[in-house]
Amino acid sequence: RIVYVNGEWMPEADAKISVFDRGFQFADSIYEITAVLGGKLIDYHGHAQRLSRSLTALGIPVPVSEEHMLALHRQAIARNGVEEGLVYLQVSRGVQDRDFMFGADLSPTFVIFTQSKKVLDNPKWKTGISVITMPDGRWVNRQIKTVQLLYSSLAKMEAAKAGADDAIFIEDGFITEASSSNVHIVTREGTLITRQLSNALLHGITRGSILDLARQAGVPVEERRFTLDEARNAAEIFITSATAFVMPVVRLDGEPVGEGVPGPVSGRFLQLYIQDRIATAI
Ligand code: PLP
Repeated sequence: RIVYVNGEWMPEADAKISVFDRGFQFADSIYEITAVLGGKLIDYHGHAQRLSRSLTALGIPVPVSEEHMLALHRQAIARNGVEEGLVYLQVSRGVQDRDFMFGADLSPTFVIFTQSKKVLDNPKWKTGISVITMPDGRWVNRQIKTVQLLYSSLAKMEAAKAGADDAIFIEDGFITEASSSNVHIVTREGTLITRQLSNALLHGITRGSILDLARQAGVPVEERRFTLDEARNAAEIFITSATAFVMPVVRLDGEPVGEGVPGPVSGRFLQLYIQDRIATAI
């Protein structure tokens, strides 16, 4: 692969980051992932805006202009011939001799790479996934997309050990989100419930798009916290993320969700999302 490091494109084997990079030593770093379909970026503007918000929240300078950022995404796709997959981007505060305190004048480390992989026709869309629940042990500023992914990584390992596909996190009896996606439920009356935005969860771009599509389709929407019990009694549960789109959850802690098969509402949202986002890809 051809990757981008601080203004230059190079073969991945030639890419080097300092051992003193604060992203490596302190997870002082943010990232974004944007899906690619037909060589085009899905929901790009949402991801670009969240990237700026994450950087601003940590006081890391935005490394390039808006236009240049889009151009770099397109170059990454073109240089690697990506038809379907993702663009990964990471910005860390920069390089400095190890110290908890950081200087004001560091220049950010900026990396982009791509992954070519199947995004459409995900076989799990047909079967749904199983999830287990566990306490949310992450830090409390989850609206910032930092690379502090260790808890989520361990949670996914734990889920796999338990024979499940993923983990969803519980805090004070309420679902926050899943290890790398947002969680939504559909009540037996057909209302879509998703947790309101706060620092308890990442403000998922796919989440926002699904809410827009739901409102356009006249589906009743409630943005509020919901409990694990509400999820257990829901007709449907689904998760959303940039690369899984809309993924039905059919087992929760070993128990079937609704009929125990992917439900019609999540199926409809998946179709709507794919149609709408392919049409608006850039
Ligand atoms: N929540 C967490 C913790 C995530 O890591 C992600 C995506 O990586 C999401 C939610 C979904 O966000 P998006 O739809 O922007 O990919």
